[in-house]
Amino acid sequence: METSTKKLKLELINWYKNNKRSFPWRKTTNPWQILLIETLAQQTQLERANKYFKKFSEEFPSPKSMANSSLKIILQMWSGLGYNNRARRLYEASKIIEKKGFNQIYPNFDVLPGVGPYTKNAILSFAYGEKVLAIDTNIERIIQRYFGLNNTKDFFKENSKYFLHKVDSRDINQAFMDFGSSICKSSKPRCDICPIESDCSKYFSNYKSSGEKFKGSNREVRGKIIKLLINEGHISNQRLFEEIDEDSEKVKKALEGLKKDKLIKFKKNNIIEIN
Ligand code: SF4
Repeated sequence: METSTKKLKLELINWYKNNKRSFPWRKTTNPWQILLIETLAQQTQLERANKYFKKFSEEFPSPKSMANSSLKIILQMWSGLGYNNRARRLYEASKIIEKKGFNQIYPNFDVLPGVGPYTKNAILSFAYGEKVLAIDTNIERIIQRYFGLNNTKDFFKENSKYFLHKVDSRDINQAFMDFGSSICKSSKPRCDICPIESDCSKYFSNYKSSGEKFKGSNREVRGKIIKLLINEGHISNQRLFEEIDEDSEKVKKALEGLKKDKLIKFKKNNIIEIN
């Protein structure tokens, strides 16, 4: 596996040199900006996340500026991105970073709300230049297909070092990201123009693609509720059910979830508002 892993690395790096996407945060080593973009880009295409990155990095140039803001303002700016929990966790993370600073938390960034193994390694690689792979769905999918594997856990344990040997970890991580987004895509991979096609096992496992359908989903109902609360400030339980044009069971479920996720709170007289 060592030889074929090294070969794949060289081919990806070569491809990346001529095909890399240009984004403003790719030039930065500021951990706050990396955390911002990585949070915005979770479950979101990079091009779309980039638009939000511009306004978020202007409005919140430092963890302190976000920590001194409010969840309501952050959710307003987040509007249209979905998965509002990310906004709340980012807000909570900003308060912790404001108190301690990134360097005191380094390298254990996964103590921050919303930061899992992928985002932790993305910060370590892009901000600190550490030799780590940021393993997300793109890299997993490419490896599964290329090597014909169903499970990549052992593969990464044994082979990460070969991907990182004599290479800037930023380059190999971004190469996987860009290659997975434009060539080895989740659905309809471009095998016809793929530069590593001749060595690829082209094994398509039961890889889940885009998740739940949005229309009528719990995610959509949650989004509608948050939007209504941003516009209204607060609203009675009864009016909320009248305004949200969805099945009442779905609204109830969405409300319970939002409360559990601490995005909303119930006040006296059945009044609901953003937490
Ligand atoms: S040949 Fe197809 S499946 Fe294999 S790496 Fe290229 S795009 Fe992905």
